[in-house]
Amino acid sequence: MDWSASGSTLISSSYLEQGQQALQRRRKLFRSLLSERRLPTRGWDDHSIELFLQEVAAMDSNNFLDNIGVGEREARVASGLVAHRHYGLAHGIGRSGDIAAEQPKAAGSSLLAKLTNLLTKDALRLAGFGDLGTVSVIPVATGMAITLTILALKSSRPSGAEYVLWPRVDQKTCLKSLVLAGVKVVPMPMMHIGDQLCTDTSGLESKIAELGSANVLGIVSTTSCFAPRAADDVVAVAKLCAKQDIGHIINNAYGVQAQQLTRSITAAWRRGRVDAVIQSTDKNFMVPVGGAVICAGSKHDKLEREELLPRMQAALASFAQAHDPNAPPGKKPSITFLGSKLFSKCVSGTRVIARGKAHTVAGYSFQGYGSHCDDFGSEYLTAAAALGTTMNEVHEFLHRLGICMKQYAKHAGE
Ligand SMILES: *Cc1c(COP(=O)(O)O)cnc(C)c1O
Repeated sequence: MDWSASGSTLISSSYLEQGQQALQRRRKLFRSLLSERRLPTRGWDDHSIELFLQEVAAMDSNNFLDNIGVGEREARVASGLVAHRHYGLAHGIGRSGDIAAEQPKAAGSSLLAKLTNLLTKDALRLAGFGDLGTVSVIPVATGMAITLTILALKSSRPSGAEYVLWPRVDQKTCLKSLVLAGVKVVPMPMMHIGDQLCTDTSGLESKIAELGSANVLGIVSTTSCFAPRAADDVVAVAKLCAKQDIGHIINNAYGVQAQQLTRSITAAWRRGRVDAVIQSTDKNFMVPVGGAVICAGSKHDKLEREELLPRMQAALASFAQAHDPNAPPGKKPSITFLGSKLFSKCVSGTRVIARGKAHTVAGYSFQGYGSHCDDFGSEYLTAAAALGTTMNEVHEFLHRLGICMKQYAKHAGE
């Protein structure tokens, strides 16, 4: 806001000008934080941080002027002390079970949550992590974060996979967090080498062979722990997990501060499989107990997609064999009929390509537009194995496609 225009009738314009400049410097800080999304080279003073939080909080609906909330959750806070301590940010983050989703009633809180994840990612990068993928700060401590991660891993593995191999570390929370997730924990003894206890990789390998890799959910390795236990050889474990196609979670509770550990975790997700790495917020960022950071390498996302692609291709090929449309010649309806049926069944993203479609783009005219050539030789349908596609979605897609194909064949026969 421009104070100098109307304010100068109240106090001298030269003083006002100076005050205005001071305000603008802070605005500039806010703007660069929002555009660069990295930790500022020079830390902010407390006043700037408070001003920023006040502005952000004013964007949450409970803090709107004249707000009237008539829902069951309207960010009502009984104690002024508590409201003040939270800068009026009371709506929480996430939506309906997805902590990363935007909260419609709370633009400010949602923005703050996104920024927090990005700044934390920057901090992890400075600490020595390379090729970082998603970074999430979650409002539960390390042990609970391990439990939640195990549960997430469980949902992506065959239902019989219930064993978690766990190179022993004598910290009670580590074991309790696994037991709480309802898995069968197999404590694995460490190998005594010199005066250290080291990962017994071949012991892990023979245990997987004994249990059968399909029955193993994964391995939980630990990097930060008390002597004489050494950090697990996460590179060797990651390679083993990639080879055996089992999950791998790294408990890096207070390892952000040790570059040796951040580097070896980076090597682990570059050379093998690491599903998630978990660290404590209090132990690494000097804040009160009660939070954790979950991160993974950027390759993990790619790996998932690369794993999905051949499975999706195989599923589509066997579907095509079983569902030859076989419409009598001449009576075949346009494939766009199939496209519209799929659309009505809420299948999005497929592209139905009819033959001989002429189209003009920017003054150029094309035959068979959409198929990248004049005539591909047949009509077809595309489906993509994109980042984030799950095998469940592929199966559901094929189920609905099957229903649409029947309608298509029936329509053709009429
Ligand atoms: C601190 C710690 C935990 C437990 O952390 P909480 O935040 O209390 O859940 C688990 N494992 C290791 C190795 C730790 O150092």
